[in-house]
Amino acid sequence: MPRATIIGSGPNGLASAVSLARAGYEVRVVEAAETIGGGLRTTEATLPGFRHDVCSAVHPATLSSPFFEAFGMAERIEWIHPEISYAHPLDDGRAAVAWRSIDRTANALGVDGRAWNALLRPLSSHIDGVVDFTGNALLRMPREPVTALRYALRILEQGTPLASLTFRTEEAAALLAGVIAHANTPLPSLGGAAAGLLIASMAHAGGWMYPRGGAQRIADALVADLEAHGGTVETGVHVHDLATFDWGDPTRGDVLLLNSAPRLALTHPGIPYRYAKAISAYRYGPAVAKVDFALDGPIPWTNRDVAKAPTVHIGGTQAEVWASENAVARGRISDRPYVLSVQPSIFDDSRAPQGRPCCGRTCTCRRTLTLTRPRSSRSRWSASRRGSASAFLPVTRCRHPLARRSIPLRSAATHSAERLRSVRRCDVLCCRRPPGARRCAGSISHRQQPLLAPVSTDWRAGMRRAPY
Ligand SMILES: Cc1cc2nc3c(=O)[nH]c(=O)nc-3n(C[C@H](O)[C@H](O)[C@H](O)COP(=O)(O)OP(=O)(O)OC[C@H]3O[C@@H](n4cnc5c(N)ncnc54)[C@H](O)[C@@H]3O)c2cc1C
Repeated sequence: MPRATIIGSGPNGLASAVSLARAGYEVRVVEAAETIGGGLRTTEATLPGFRHDVCSAVHPATLSSPFFEAFGMAERIEWIHPEISYAHPLDDGRAAVAWRSIDRTANALGVDGRAWNALLRPLSSHIDGVVDFTGNALLRMPREPVTALRYALRILEQGTPLASLTFRTEEAAALLAGVIAHANTPLPSLGGAAAGLLIASMAHAGGWMYPRGGAQRIADALVADLEAHGGTVETGVHVHDLATFDWGDPTRGDVLLLNSAPRLALTHPGIPYRYAKAISAYRYGPAVAKVDFALDGPIPWTNRDVAKAPTVHIGGTQAEVWASENAVARGRISDRPYVLSVQPSIFDDSRAPQGRPCCGRTCTCRRTLTLTRPRSSRSRWSASRRGSASAFLPVTRCRHPLARRSIPLRSAATHSAERLRSVRRCDVLCCRRPPGARRCAGSISHRQQPLLAPVSTDWRAGMRRAPY
């Protein structure tokens, strides 16, 4: 039986592991951390009983992923589908809300309802076409060419300064800017618009859903399936050098998958020059800082709908969101950063003790202090709430007292140029990769990224032989 060794137990590594185990490989997953899941981990980072997602909390793409659809993830764990996907408060108490229902969202946006509808309805009502286009190699005929064209035209509009002309009210413009800012790119940018429009459409297609109990449930379901098919996971093993790491013999059909940062591939002794050059040129995105809070009571949001929203984008108007992200892109510190706040315990009672919510706040600025400071008197909450907090920060900025541990985070590159280069690298990977080695990480967008698409085409045949 051929061996498959996967370095890293993030969602992409585990999805590859499951696919290979079912295709008849003897699978071994090696993970540096003490627990499995990578960005899918959920831990009691603050106090006992408060279960915080370390990275991903919201999973809008999960159920539209062809891999997870084939895996049956919708049935394997319990999903929560909140009525509200995300909300965006402004400093003076006004707020815009993206409801799961696009009609309700458009109605609430008043004069901008028509523009919101025109922008997102053609995408959300053809979400499979959008996912097919975004989750596969860009240079090929999309399954739904009209949807792909509509999506591309909207990217051109929202990825350029024309975006400031789409809406008449600050609320609608901020609602879209907040979701586009998830991409951690300079704004407006084509890469940011592409990512933002995708998840904004998902907000109205199936909604932004959450696994009850936290993201760890997804990782646990994948590992359970892997083990049922004979695979194994070893934690606490950090692989530094592929030259000395035993993963088998490529001439016998053994394969190595790297679910790690790209530079580990450089230690492979058989790495072809062109591939090494492409990997060396990879541009990392900005670092991310996150603080988790265990609170003594609900966050006193001024706006009632915001209090019911699991995800809240705190960043002010469209111009303020753009200014914050552009400052980060230029390596500056924004005093009023765009902050992504998730409050899972408002709909999932397994996440925190009764009446004591938990909340996680993430931003791409290079320090955490800004995550605990209120933006204005209207959105103040941290001063009136007591509790415990835990943070992870970029390693270079880990002196804040909240930082109980520091994790070197390198977020995936979402620069437009990097994404386009990844198309070329995809070809390099397929025809000139190191013998037997493949990459399967979220930091490179190519067709071996099972989070959005099934693993590469040669394994698909194996998957068909052993359906999920
Ligand atoms: C703060 C934050 C919030 C996020 N929120 C969301 C969200 O709400 N929704 C969403 O969809 N996405 C979110 N993301 C993005 C999501 O977490 C990532 O896209 C996803 O985790 C990438 O998966 P992956 O499998 O490629 O890599 P990872 O999840 O990073 O997993 C890689 C694994 O490989 C291990 N590893 C790496 N190198 C080695 C080595 N040399 N030896 C052994 N093991 C190694 C690591 O320890 C890690 O466990 C968020 C990310 C961050 C940082």
